[in-house]
Formats: sequence, structure tokens, C-alpha cells
Amino acid sequence: MNRLRRELLTAALGAALPWPLRAQPVPAARVVIIGGGFGGASCARALRRAAPQVQVRLIEPRAHFYTGPWTNAAITGACATGDIVQSPAGLCDIGVDWVQDRVTGIDPVARRVRTAGGMRLQADRLVVSPGVEMRWDLIEGLDAAASATMPHAWLGDAQVPSLSARMAALRDGATIAISAPANPYRCPPGPYERASLMAWQQSARGHRGKILVFDAKDDFTKRALFQLGWDTLYPGRIEWVPRAAGGEVVAVDGGRGELRLHNGERVRADLASLIPAQRAAAIARAADLTDAGGWCPVRAADFCSLRHAGIHVIGDAAAAQPMPKSAFSANSQGKLVALAIAAEVEGRPPPEPHLLNTCYSLLAPDYAISVGGLYGVVADLLVTLSDGSSPLSATRATRALEARYAQDWYVQINRDTFG
Ligand SMILES: Cc1cc2nc3c(=O)[nH]c(=O)nc-3n(C[C@H](O)[C@H](O)[C@H](O)COP(=O)(O)OP(=O)(O)OC[C@H]3O[C@@H](n4cnc5c(N)ncnc54)[C@H](O)[C@@H]3O)c2cc1C
Repeated sequence: MNRLRRELLTAALGAALPWPLRAQPVPAARVVIIGGGFGGASCARALRRAAPQVQVRLIEPRAHFYTGPWTNAAITGACATGDIVQSPAGLCDIGVDWVQDRVTGIDPVARRVRTAGGMRLQADRLVVSPGVEMRWDLIEGLDAAASATMPHAWLGDAQVPSLSARMAALRDGATIAISAPANPYRCPPGPYERASLMAWQQSARGHRGKILVFDAKDDFTKRALFQLGWDTLYPGRIEWVPRAAGGEVVAVDGGRGELRLHNGERVRADLASLIPAQRAAAIARAADLTDAGGWCPVRAADFCSLRHAGIHVIGDAAAAQPMPKSAFSANSQGKLVALAIAAEVEGRPPPEPHLLNTCYSLLAPDYAISVGGLYGVVADLLVTLSDGSSPLSATRATRALEARYAQDWYVQINRDTFG
């Protein structure tokens, strides 16, 4: 008999009962999911489908949020900010017990959860998908207050419309500075897609201008494809400054809109969008689920925490290399965990883990590139089984087709996750 099944029977019937009496129909398991973004919502939805007898309670403080995917399109006017808002309505429709509240404490041994609204919940399984938080300890002067003037717009909050409004108000000839953090972080191609679409917006408005990308690393995903696209679409407009050339931002003066780089150079920009380094969101750390690097180590087969039994960590908070921290990865992990819990409840063998990711990046509304991967478990490790990216030699028609696929993917992932 598997562990969850045994725990449930023991809890329901009492360990002292004789064995034949304990083998009664399994009561519904109580699964509490923390975080209703791409990971948590995908898991909730898949669990309702795979194991309707399981009680699924999802705790999320935000009734509405902006999705990460298409944030860069929204801040540059390629779509409206209202087009990328999500809500839990579709989850409630299928019987997910969605609670608008914030988890303030997790007892990872007893699997008890406390919320700001005063709820106390006991779970048989916990699924933790709280996303990321920004690290304010690495760039001098960059804290939450300074970030409001140099918005990252990386967390689906009010910084998204704020950055969109700042972009719309930029003068002809403006200089924009973007900073990209060291790996790992949410959406590896995101800073470079942002630079591309900012350049598109400037060009579409007939504005001259410059976009400087200051990087804390010396390489980035799909670099050759991005650089080819920049040379083709926006020659001379986007300049990428790697860490080796002093590109890492080490200090900021929010009031003056000034950045100081690792090489000592000071840069003034009309608009700065600084994307800080990240780690798993605070609740994961408070629950003792993180390691020294700030991410949550998990078992590859079912994303069970390596620090506490009975808790799954999915999405960006999990240390799930080689999978990138993306909505697609979080969706795929959420489904795997739902199937693993359903199998355990029903006494079936665990599912074989096959995980997917595809990341599209828009360089213009009619020009996209992509990277994709299939992941599995070999010798207890998560590994890439196959991967690929758009060819460097693709025609403009192919790039335009990929832009259409990107749009279709966005519609589909939202439907699959939120309903
Ligand atoms: C600019 C940008 C572009 C992107 N583009 C793409 C793309 O094209 N394709 C792609 O696949 N991915 C993309 N992403 C990445 C994607 O948004 C994330 O990887 C994805 O949202 C991760 O899902 P998650 O569930 O881990 O976190 P989230 O979706 O952020 O969900 C976490 C949720 O947990 C909640 N939470 C936090 N703390 C608590 C608490 N204490 N109690 C209860 N709830 C809590 C938060 O409110 C949040 O809603 C992009 C991201 C950005 C920023």
C-alpha cells in the first residue's frame, strides 16, 4: 500500500484497528495548493479532472493578475494590458475551493497551513507554487521603493500598467536601460524580448532611440537568434553589454535615474527597467523548503520536496534545472504532480514523468523565435531528452508563422491552466 493511502486510512480509521477493517474505501484526500498562478492553477485543474474525490483547496491573495507571458507585449502596446489579466473564475467553476487569502505560515512536518485571514488548514498533501520574489540585497540602492521608479514588471502586479504608461509617454530619441539578472531567474528570454519589443514600439512610433541591455551574465538563451533579429529589424538600436564588458548593474540612484555598472561607468537613461536577481517566494523560505541558493530542491519523479515529505514544490520556486522557469514548465509540473497524487490516492503506480516546455519570444508582433524541450527522469535526475530552437536561417515568413504560433500558444496555455 502506498504512503498517502496508508496515511489517509490511518487518519480516518485509527491505527489501532485490525488490518481488514482498515482496508475500507479511501476517504477523499485534502490537498492544499499555495499560489494560484500557472503552477498552482494547473495542478488544481488537473487534480479535479484526475481525482474528483480529492478535495482541492487553493489559496491565492490576488483575485486578478497580469500573466507573465505577453507582459512585454502589453507594456509596449503590442496588446492591451487588459488582454493579459487572469482571474480564478474558471477554477471555481470546476469545483476548486479557491480562497482569496495569503498563507502566512506552513508547518512542513504536520502539513498545517495558516493564513492572514485566520484560517487553519490541515492537508494530506501540500502543493507549493508561490513563484519568485526579488532580491533587494545585490544591487546597492535598489529596493522595493527604488524599483517603483525603475520598474521590473516581472511579478504581474501594478508595475505592468505603470511601465506601459511610462513607455507610451517616452519622447523621441529616448534612451532606455534594461538590466538582466544572473541565472536562474523567471523567464530567461524575457529581458531580451522586452528590449526587442521596446525597439519595435520606438520604431513603430517613428522615434529614434537607444536600448541598452546591461547583463549580469555573458550569454543568454537564443542569443544568436535575438542578435540576428535585432540586426535585421532594428540595426544599431539595441546594445547588449555582457558582464565581461562591465555590464552588470551594481548600484542605482532611483531619484536621479542613474545606474552604476561593474566597470564603474555611470549611465543615465530616460527610462530604466531593472530586473533584479530572484529566489523562491518568501513563504517557501519560511517553510524551510529552500536550499542555500534560495530555491526549493525537489525529487525529479514527482517534484516532492527533498526537505519535507508530503509537500510538492512546482513552478518557478522549484530547483528544476534543466527546465527553465516558465509558465509552460509550471503547467507541465502541475499536471505531473496532480497525476502523482491521483495515482497515490487510488493505489496505482506513479506516472512516468514526461515534462514539456516551449518558450516563444516576440521580436515584433509579426516576428518570433522559439526554444523547446522534452524532459524526463534518468537515474533520479531531471534531464533533457530532446530540445531544439528556431533555425537561424528561417525566412521572414517562418518568423511570422512563429508569431502566430506564439499567440495561439498563449490562448491555449491560459485555457488549459485557468479555464
Ligand atoms: C516578462 C515575462 C514574460 C514571460 N513570458 C513567458 C512566456 O512567453 N512563456 C512562458 O512559458 N513563461 C513566461 N513567463 C514566465 C511565467 O510567467 C512564470 O514562469 C510562471 O508564472 C511561473 O508560475 P508559478 O506558478 O511558479 O508562479 P506565478 O505564476 O507567479 O504564481 C505564483 C502565485 O503565488 C502567489 N503567492 C505568493 N506567495 C503566496 C502566499 N504566501 N500565499 C498564497 N499565495 C501566494 C502569488 O500571488 C502568485 O499569484 C514570463 C514571465 C515574465 C515576467
